[in-house]
Amino acid sequence: MPKTCVLILLDGLGDRSHPELDHKTPLQAAHTPCLDRLAAMGGTGLYHAAKFGQPLPSENAHFTMFGNKKKEFPGRGPLEAIGADVPLGKDDVAMLAHFTSVLPTLHNELILKYDRICGTPAEIDGFYHVLENFEKDGIRIDLHKTGGLFSVLTMRGDVSPHITDSNPMVDRRFLSEIKPLDSFRDDPATIRTAEVLTAYLRWAYHQLSNEPQNKLRVKQKLPMINGLVTQRAGQLMPCVSMRDRYGLHGLVIASGVMYKGLAQYIGMSFHKAGDTRDPGHDLARRIEHAAGCVDEFDFIHVHTKAPDQAAHTKKPKAKVKAIESLDKGLNESIDSLINNDDVLLVVTADHSTPSCGTLIHSGEPVPLMFVGGGVRRDTVQQFDEVSVAGGALGSMRGDEIMYMILNYLDRARLVGIHDTPMKQEFWPGDYNPFILEPK
Ligand SMILES: [Zn+2]
Repeated sequence: MPKTCVLILLDGLGDRSHPELDHKTPLQAAHTPCLDRLAAMGGTGLYHAAKFGQPLPSENAHFTMFGNKKKEFPGRGPLEAIGADVPLGKDDVAMLAHFTSVLPTLHNELILKYDRICGTPAEIDGFYHVLENFEKDGIRIDLHKTGGLFSVLTMRGDVSPHITDSNPMVDRRFLSEIKPLDSFRDDPATIRTAEVLTAYLRWAYHQLSNEPQNKLRVKQKLPMINGLVTQRAGQLMPCVSMRDRYGLHGLVIASGVMYKGLAQYIGMSFHKAGDTRDPGHDLARRIEHAAGCVDEFDFIHVHTKAPDQAAHTKKPKAKVKAIESLDKGLNESIDSLINNDDVLLVVTADHSTPSCGTLIHSGEPVPLMFVGGGVRRDTVQQFDEVSVAGGALGSMRGDEIMYMILNYLDRARLVGIHDTPMKQEFWPGDYNPFILEPK
């Protein structure tokens, strides 16, 4: 029986059918001999981390896939803060923030002109310097740069994370008003948090608009970098570690800051991977690294963002190219895993990212395969969204994937067996020996 699960996560792999691909999805259209070979060796199916039809961000999907409970989810802001080593107290609020170009209307609304914009490193540092901290009504705001124009905004004081976003995410839409979420509309801390953040963002707009560097940009016929938008506020929550809940020593191999934060939050190790222009090469290096860690860990997550990034260009053929590159990388490196009887290989995605339309992510399920000792083999010969729908794994949802992994590692608990006071999903749990007579 396998001892270690290696989960290869092709971020945003699922997609829709496109006329320019002869009504196939990018994964169906791509030439993927290695993924197809793997599919023929194991069991396949569909996976969705929440409900069919619900688009999920990577952080929510990964959090559930790793078997955590919804109430433990801290939000993207705190995960990013942890990953970027931003100091965050247990009562602080953290959210994503980034610089944009905005345009005021005659009615004093702000329109998102360009959500994504470029500036020189010196310009960007100047803008951060202007906005780095702010205080009002006993609440302190700090802006922490995490990369270029992207940052984490923290709020300290009597604050609450239950507020709306200001970022509409799509160009030419109005920035949204910051309000308490409905169920917190009478909560004083939430009301104050929304008011202070609103005051800060108004102040930020005026400060940025008056910056000499922006006046120079106007002269150079460049759009101003005059808006700061926020989204996905959250707060740290009590969370059971992967080791205590599933008995697994976990490792994440990824390049993104959020994955580092997520790993740390749920007690997994994190090994940072590098990104080059060749996603297949990067994936092969990550798989080789995972192969060297099989004896040390029970669960290894190997992540690539390439399919998701290609889909965000809204060019289906770019996604086909990214998938084909990843397949080459898999072909180059996967034998080190599939020739090891200790390895249960799982390949899937966190969500679908459509290469068309206006949605950021979409709600279709993603393809899934399990390869390893004992896995029920089906007759599916191709790894794509449609072929795997006829596979033996059926449709798996939410944290079921973690239970199925425990199952194939022969560590699943027979329901009803209690060997520890703590609720643990693995068996045997961390039980104490029965003592005949205390000494
Ligand atoms: Zn994702």
